[in-house]
Amino acid sequence: MADRSEIQEALGDIVTGKILYDEPMSRYASLCVGGNAGALVFVESEKELIEIVLRLKERKINFIPVGNLTNIIVRDGGYRGAILLMKGLRKINCASTPEGDYCISAQSGATLSMLVSFAAAKALTGLEFCAGIPGSVGGAVWMNAGAYGKEIKDIIQTISLLTAYGEKKTLRREEISFGYRSSGLPPESIILNAQFKLENGHIEQIKGKISEIIKWRQEKHPLNFPNAGSIFKNLPGQPAGRLIEEMGLKGTSCNDAEVSPKHANFIVNKGKATASDVLALIAVIQTKAKKEKGINLETEIVIVGED
Ligand SMILES: Cc1cc2nc3c(=O)[nH]c(=O)nc-3n(C[C@H](O)[C@H](O)[C@H](O)COP(=O)(O)OP(=O)(O)OC[C@H]3O[C@@H](n4cnc5c(N)ncnc54)[C@H](O)[C@@H]3O)c2cc1C
Repeated sequence: MADRSEIQEALGDIVTGKILYDEPMSRYASLCVGGNAGALVFVESEKELIEIVLRLKERKINFIPVGNLTNIIVRDGGYRGAILLMKGLRKINCASTPEGDYCISAQSGATLSMLVSFAAAKALTGLEFCAGIPGSVGGAVWMNAGAYGKEIKDIIQTISLLTAYGEKKTLRREEISFGYRSSGLPPESIILNAQFKLENGHIEQIKGKISEIIKWRQEKHPLNFPNAGSIFKNLPGQPAGRLIEEMGLKGTSCNDAEVSPKHANFIVNKGKATASDVLALIAVIQTKAKKEKGINLETEIVIVGED
């Protein structure tokens, strides 16, 4: 727990980029909800990040790294600590390995959309399934993002991360315990960089696949309202959206938070929804799923902060 003055004292003299104190996270989250961060730190370099982590650790100030905030809700009571925004670390490079494979290396703040376009321009195939996922590389690795039967774990070669104690480490894919929408990485680790192993493909085929996926997403997802993608994890053999639809919950709302009539696993913000509205709606869905179907619906989105 930390208030503004503690964070200011810890970081004020080392951060070269912006730090905004008591900053509403609703301004940054794709769902446009969320309370204040004690401090929102715009991370500009790895070197600075190491110093930031060491200083925060030393003073026992909580911190959490974020990318594009497309899969996280900060409760309305806010996050008493530092939210580290990684968007400033966004370099992407391409290299071929001694074995003749192709590898793209991306810093964690690069967006998946930049990554997908970069790979397509180099005629490298394997990343197309990420088209239209609005997150960052760091968020996608942390969540083991996936779509169309593929997940980040299928193409990861290595990642580099910063441990909670400010040490840099490289992990090979076999050393990471990926699961469904989870990387199993230790809490407070910060992903710095990820290397993806791809194959040579045909540029027109790759671009065609990307367009097809984006068109499908535009047709199926309620992209005209702020949202955070799928709220709940799918169940084995059963999409959570179908279950919610079967329970007749499409269109159910808590103030301006509504179960999308277009896709039942999406909650949309119709205007002035708060994090509490979204969380209340999540609770309504979970209670009904438990009562009527005996099913525990688990959230896919990450929920942090205080009530
Ligand atoms: C319209 C829409 C469609 C979507 N479709 C999909 C989909 O098809 N498949 C899918 O899997 N997801 C989907 N998502 C969800 C989301 O985009 C992904 O999970 C994405 O990978 C999250 O990235 P982010 O940068 O926004 O993460 P954030 O929301 O910023 O953070 C999510 C989690 O990752 C952690 N994190 C972020 N960066 C780092 C880092 N550098 N190091 C350590 N931890 C980090 C955060 O602490 C948090 O726990 C969708 C979302 C939307 C809005």
